[in-house]
Amino acid sequence: MLNNPRIRRGLMLIVVAPSGAGKTSLCRRLMADHEDLDLSISVTTRAPRPGEEHGRDYHFISDAQMDELIAQDALLETAAVHEFRYGTPREPVEKALSQGKNVLFDIDWQGAQRISVKAPSDVVRVFILPPSMSELKRRLVARAQDGMDVIERRLSRAKGEIAHWAEYDYVILNDDFDRSYAELAHIYHAEAARRSRGLWIAPFVDELMGEII
Ligand code: 5GP
Repeated sequence: MLNNPRIRRGLMLIVVAPSGAGKTSLCRRLMADHEDLDLSISVTTRAPRPGEEHGRDYHFISDAQMDELIAQDALLETAAVHEFRYGTPREPVEKALSQGKNVLFDIDWQGAQRISVKAPSDVVRVFILPPSMSELKRRLVARAQDGMDVIERRLSRAKGEIAHWAEYDYVILNDDFDRSYAELAHIYHAEAARRSRGLWIAPFVDELMGEII
């Protein structure tokens, strides 16, 4: 092996789906399987659901704190989802990318659009589709974290989210977790291995060609 550090340009993997399509489980598994991938942990003004942890699932903040972060330009993007506000903290993303790590974003279509405009050549967008609206409803009800009125609102919002499917580089139909996960992992591996991300490749090839054999 030649003496060449594998310096690379980090990738921003944005995964979007209507809630109930299985996005969170797919993203968790991708994170668990990949040490070179950092999860962007959003801020939100909504309250934690049972089982959610501050700093792991979200940074749960007040409206005033959200205003302060926006005023400090500390967020890469913000969006209103349902009746709450969400945002992506800028600093952890910039730090991870500067270290050549990849960053996973579990955000909505508005955030995907805004980040894509800011960093078009570093973004890969994946959309997760549920197999049917009735299955989506079944999953939301089974999750039982929300009341029926919230579920109905999520279902109507799901249609609005799905309407944006054509803005994505990849679409995965999540009718089988293992198969969908394999597709997501393949997309991640292929995109991370793109020649344009491998800043180490050109100097490595120079070394390779100059090697005395
Ligand atoms: P939930 O409240 O169910 O966790 O999330 C509601 C929606 O907000 C989901 O589609 C989730 O992906 C999205 N979301 C979470 N964090 C952010 C963020 O920082 N920015 C944007 N634009 N959407 C987010």
